[in-house]
Amino acid sequence: MRRPLIVANWKMHKSRAEAREYAETLLAALATAPTGEIELAIAPPFTALETLAGVLTGSPVALAGQNVSSMAEGAFTGEVSVSMLKDLGCRYCIVGHSERRAQHGETSADVAAKAAALLKEGLRPIICVGETQAQREAGQTEKIVAEQLAASLPAMSTPTAGEVVVAYEPIWAIGTGVTATPEQAQEVQAFLRVCLNKILGEGADRVRLQYGGSVGPDSIRSLMNQPDIDGALIGSAALDARTLETILANIQLENTSP
Ligand code: PEP
Repeated sequence: MRRPLIVANWKMHKSRAEAREYAETLLAALATAPTGEIELAIAPPFTALETLAGVLTGSPVALAGQNVSSMAEGAFTGEVSVSMLKDLGCRYCIVGHSERRAQHGETSADVAAKAAALLKEGLRPIICVGETQAQREAGQTEKIVAEQLAASLPAMSTPTAGEVVVAYEPIWAIGTGVTATPEQAQEVQAFLRVCLNKILGEGADRVRLQYGGSVGPDSIRSLMNQPDIDGALIGSAALDARTLETILANIQLENTSP
C-alpha cells in the first residue's frame, strides 16, 4: 500500500512572515481536520525553510526543498547542499522540475546525481518528468517520459525504491489552468509504472507516482481515484493555505464515500 503524498510547491513566492502565517493557518485547520493517511509536505523557497521548520517541527507536515546541489560542499556559489537541507529538517526535495530543466539547463543526468545525493543522506527525491504540448501532439509522450525516467533515476536497492517519488508533470498543464484529465494522467502514469518495473523490478511497486499540473480542489478527487496516482505536486492552488485545506478535505471525502 503506497501512502498518498501531497506536496505544495511554492516556487519563488512568500516572505518569511507570509510563510509563518500560512503554516499557522494550515496547522490550525489540521488540528480539527487531520490529514489521516495522506502525507503532506511543503516546498517553500530556501529562504523560508527555517521559518517553516520553526512552526512545523513536530507536526504532521513535512518540509521539502525545491532543488539541491549534487555536490557535498565547496566553491559552488548560489548552491545549497543536501546536508544543509537535512540540517533544516527537510524530508523531501523536488529534483528535475521542468522549470529547472528548461530555465537552468538541468539534464536528466544532473537530476539522477541530485537524487542519488539525497538518498545517500536519507532524504527522499521527488523526480519530475513530463512532456511538452508539441511532444504530446507529435505522439512522443511515452518516448519522452520513458527516456527522462530511465536517465533521472539513481541506482538503488529494492528497499530504497520506497523512498523515491516520481512526479508526472505534463509541461502543458503546469501553471496553465489546464489539468490533464484523470484518464490522460492515468494512461501515462500506468506506462511509467511499467517502465519502473523494467528498471527496478520488485521495487517498482514501492515508488509513489504523483501527478502535477494545475491540480485544484475540483480536480483532485478524480485524479487521486486513479490506480496509478498516489498523490499530487501542486503549485498555484497550494499557495493559499485554505485552498490546500479544501484539496485535502476533498481527497478524504472521496476516500470515505461508499
Ligand atoms: C508545479 O509547479 O509543479 C505545478 C504543478 O504547478 P501548478 O499546480 O501551478 O500547475
